[in-house]
Amino acid sequence: MFTSIAGRSVVVTGGSKGIGRGIATAFARAGARVVVTGRDKASLETACNEIGGATSYVIGDVSLREDCDRMAATTIERHGGIDVLCANAGIFPAARLDQMTAADLNRVIATNLNGTVFAVQACLDALTTTGRGRVVVTSSITGPHTGYPGWSHYGASKAAQLGFVRTAALELAPRGITINAVLPGNIATEGLDGLGEDYLDAMTASIPQRRLGAVTDIGNAALFFATEEASYITGQTLVVDGGQVLPESLQALAEI
Ligand code: NAP
Repeated sequence: MFTSIAGRSVVVTGGSKGIGRGIATAFARAGARVVVTGRDKASLETACNEIGGATSYVIGDVSLREDCDRMAATTIERHGGIDVLCANAGIFPAARLDQMTAADLNRVIATNLNGTVFAVQACLDALTTTGRGRVVVTSSITGPHTGYPGWSHYGASKAAQLGFVRTAALELAPRGITINAVLPGNIATEGLDGLGEDYLDAMTASIPQRRLGAVTDIGNAALFFATEEASYITGQTLVVDGGQVLPESLQALAEI
């Protein structure tokens, strides 16, 4: 049994949909007060209504440092501080190298990498003040462990997040803050739906557990990193993928 985190102040970037919403739901069920962020007001309102509890939202774009500052300031106004930041907002538009524009590359890096760094910087003082600050970054297996045609820029951004986490862990340790990353495999979300049925069927077939992950699978992993019991873990990664990265070959997968 883990020590309760009821009452903790939690920010989840990209908490209006998909994995972020799953993370926000897991924290809200544990009694935390959650602020979700995103760019679209309607999705944020729907998410808050469905998550319930003390969940509220702030509209903002993580690729803009000033929006991240406003997100942190508003959370502090509402909750008196910030205990946990889940830096989750991310995008995964596909573009093969021979067609990728500079704008495609910049957009992915600005959201997935800069957005992670800006969110952490914006929450830094509040996370220090609480004395038990936690940062949980949503990375991916794509980049750190695997590749997929069309996602070289995305994979680079997700691997870059881990480089950030490792040095940030050193800088944040004296402040009593831990920072870790969850690496989801293929998780059923609105974002993934857009990739089509063929993609989803092929992905499911490549997962030893023969199912896509649920957003709650990632929510539970994020929640673990925020518990008292995880206080000695920092700079680490946790793959949550139903065993997807394990098979050495198609034969290994077929023989399961
Ligand atoms: P999703 O369903 O498309 O949700 C993405 C969330 O991020 C939404 O709330 C979106 O809201 C928000 N967002 C996107 N760009 C933003 C920006 N510039 N500023 C603020 N919020 C922004 O995607 P998802 O599948 O849940 O992915 C969430 C995270 O998990 C991403 O970091 C992704 O790389 C990672 N991940 C996903 C999978 C998967 O299988 N689904 C696997 C590995 C890793 P708005 O669009 O309204 O801003």
